[in-house]
Amino acid sequence: MRTRNQRTLARSLECTGVGIFTNSDVKIRFCPAPENHGIQFVRTDLAGSKPIPALIEYAVFKQRRTAIEYQDASVEMIEHVMAALAGLQIDNCRIEINAPEAPCFDGSSQELSLALLDSGIVEQPFQRELICIEQPLTVENESGSFIQAKPLNRSVLAIGYYLNYGEDSPVTPQCLTLEINPETWMNQLAFSRTFVLEEEVEAMRALGYGQRLSAEDLLVLGQEGPVGNEFRTLDECVRHKILDCLGDFALIGCDMHGYFSAHQSGHALNRELIKKIKSTHRSTLSETVWKVA
Ligand SMILES: [Zn+2]
Repeated sequence: MRTRNQRTLARSLECTGVGIFTNSDVKIRFCPAPENHGIQFVRTDLAGSKPIPALIEYAVFKQRRTAIEYQDASVEMIEHVMAALAGLQIDNCRIEINAPEAPCFDGSSQELSLALLDSGIVEQPFQRELICIEQPLTVENESGSFIQAKPLNRSVLAIGYYLNYGEDSPVTPQCLTLEINPETWMNQLAFSRTFVLEEEVEAMRALGYGQRLSAEDLLVLGQEGPVGNEFRTLDECVRHKILDCLGDFALIGCDMHGYFSAHQSGHALNRELIKKIKSTHRSTLSETVWKVA
């Protein structure tokens, strides 16, 4: 079993972007944090607000996105931020944010990942905790989506995703498996954008979401393909699904080694898997991975 040293940022960095649900300008600041701190979000727009650990114990249900909550403070749409930190192996970071949601950027994690790399990443003297999948484990839902976690004979995290929305969907069937490390993250995943179907955009707009975003900012898929936009790779959709898995799996609060094979899974099932793995391995994890309020 091979572990690595924990890592944090060399210096702070600030980004701004638009929130998809609140349509507001969001300022998000990433600060270095000490060993065993983990990832924590702090709402700077709420006076006296306590940090919210980005751990599965603080996750709350939201449709099609990942959110965490502690006392009166919550932050939504954290999955693409979490994926960037996990992909670059940044384990300790205090994230100050002045809104209830992370900025959307272009729907991918590219801009943020480049900014994080630019700030510099430093190793810390403590080892990163690790869970090795030793027994196959599956979670599934009533619509037939499932994720299976299996042991691997190498010390890596590999995520495979199988996507098939049927013949009438503008998204073609796609599958891809990738070993996750900072290099594959930057070259194969970070650029992949979230996607919505044209008919879903109407419903989103009716709810007041995405008022400041156009089809050029967001990957909108019509019957003929992207509307006013182009795919960055033909399999961009499945790459983004792997990105989402990585961001959601990061709520476990430690590294994982094993092969994760996801079939049409979404955020809810991703979280269920992490809950199950964490409860199975509770005895081997230290308290720093269990910051239960
Ligand atoms: Zn996503």
